[in-house]
Formats: sequence, C-alpha cells, structure tokens
Amino acid sequence: MQMRTRSGGHDYEGLSYLSYEDTTPFFILDMFNLRSVDVNIEQGMAWVESGATLGELYYKVSEKSNIHGVPASVCSTVGVGGHFSGGGYGTLIRKYGLIVDQIEDAKLIDVNGELLDRSSMGEDLFWAITGGGGASFGVVLSFLFKLVHVPPKVTYFSLEKTSEEEIINVADKWFQIADKLDPDLFIRMGFNVINNTEGNKTISATFPSLFLGNTTSLVSQ
Ligand SMILES: Cc1cc2nc3c(=O)[nH]c(=O)nc-3n(C[C@H](O)[C@H](O)[C@H](O)COP(=O)(O)OP(=O)(O)OC[C@H]3O[C@@H](n4cnc5c(N)ncnc54)[C@H](O)[C@@H]3O)c2cc1C
Repeated sequence: MQMRTRSGGHDYEGLSYLSYEDTTPFFILDMFNLRSVDVNIEQGMAWVESGATLGELYYKVSEKSNIHGVPASVCSTVGVGGHFSGGGYGTLIRKYGLIVDQIEDAKLIDVNGELLDRSSMGEDLFWAITGGGGASFGVVLSFLFKLVHVPPKVTYFSLEKTSEEEIINVADKWFQIADKLDPDLFIRMGFNVINNTEGNKTISATFPSLFLGNTTSLVSQ
C-alpha cells in the first residue's frame, strides 16, 4: 500500500487523501497531532511542526511580537507540511520572497525510518524538500525558519471591478506598474466568476493589497 502524508489537506490535486483514477490502495499518515510552534524572538527564528496550520503559526508569532512576520500564504487553513515543502507565497513575496527562502533547517524521517536534520540529510535532499514538495522524499516533521521584519501597523485595501471595460482599464494600469512598485507594496490581481444583477454569469476582478506602512506613506507612493 502507498503511504500518503497529510498535513493541512489543502493539496489542490488532493494527492494526500484522494485517489481519482489511480486505484493503488493507500493509507493516510495524518500529521494533525504534530502542530507545535516554538518561537524564539531573540534569535528571530521559529521551529514549526508540519501539522500546524498557517493560521496557528501566524497567531503564535503575533503573541510574541508585533514586528515579526512569516512570508507565507494568505490562507490560514493551509498546512505547514505541504506549504513549506512546496514553496509558499503570500502578501510578503515582493519584499521577502517565498517561505522556502527563509528555511534554515528541517527534521525528516526517511524511507528507512531514520530521523535526519539538514546536516545529516545533506544539502541535496534539503534543497529538494524546500521547494520540490515533501511527498516524494520522506516525511517532514518540522521546519526551522527565519522570521521577517514587519511594521507594527500595516495597511490593507482591496478593489473590486465587475464591468469588462473597468477590468481592462485597471488590469492594463496594473500591468504597467506592478513590477515597479515599492517592495513594501503588494497588489494582487485575481478573477472570480460571479452572477450579475440579471442572474447571468460574469467576471469580477479583485485587487487585494497590503502595504507595509501607514496610510500616509502609502498615499505618497
Ligand atoms: C484554499 C487554498 C488556498 C491556497 N493559498 C495559497 C497561497 O496563498 N500561497 C501558496 O503558495 N499556496 C497556496 N495554496 C496551495 C498550498 O500551499 C499547497 O497546496 C500546499 O501543498 C498545501 O499544503 P497542506 O499541508 O495543506 O496540504 P496536504 O494535502 O496535506 O499536502 C500537500 C502535499 O504535500 C505532501 N505533504 C504534506 N505534509 C507533508 C509532510 N509533513 N512531509 C512530506 N510531505 C508532506 C502531501 O503528501 C501532498 O502531496 C492554497 C491552497 C488552497 C486549497
């Protein structure tokens, strides 16, 4: 039987818990009991176990400090195990890159049942489980990563456009400025299918955004 490791269960393809056409029998190794978060503000680092959700991780960091953040997903129910091993992007990406850019160490059980850390697994395997997805290489128990600096107050704003003309206008402007904006300013463009007032399907474009500063400095950008 195959063993499929499940942390937050948010894999888009459901590889941790679904079978689809693949009829190979499998059992699930669920990491939900391994969810501790150990934040060391003096060192600016944290160990997090794979079964923790990102929401739990963010909450635990915020309990210790209001000037430290985690550059990872906007979705609080995504699990650390799949997200950290697969790359992990979020609203801090322009300033701090992916969560894998901050990972310093990991604990992994390999196919022989050996418990390995970065030095004993070697740099090739460490490289693979910090971006290549964890599932092919073993079971990741936990990650050590660097916290990043955030101001105590940030500005969040969002814009939604539903008319085709407005979407094209705003998207055109966004394409011209997105790569030139200050790294403190993140503006994401996303599309959704919605029903219009006549009940017909139409498209909406949203621009959820985050600025690492207050509104006065945002307006001066
Ligand atoms: C609603 C939603 C929002 C999302 N938002 C974002 C986003 O903003 N940014 C972003 O980058 N991604 C986002 N994702 C994608 C998400 O980061 C990935 O799908 C991620 O792999 C999910 O991790 P998980 O632990 O929740 O999922 P799982 O289904 O538990 O695992 C995903 C894969 O990793 C393997 N795996 C899980 N835990 C371990 C472990 N401990 N050791 C080894 N292998 C393991 C599983 O076997 C599976 O193949 C989103 C996904 C969803 C569903």
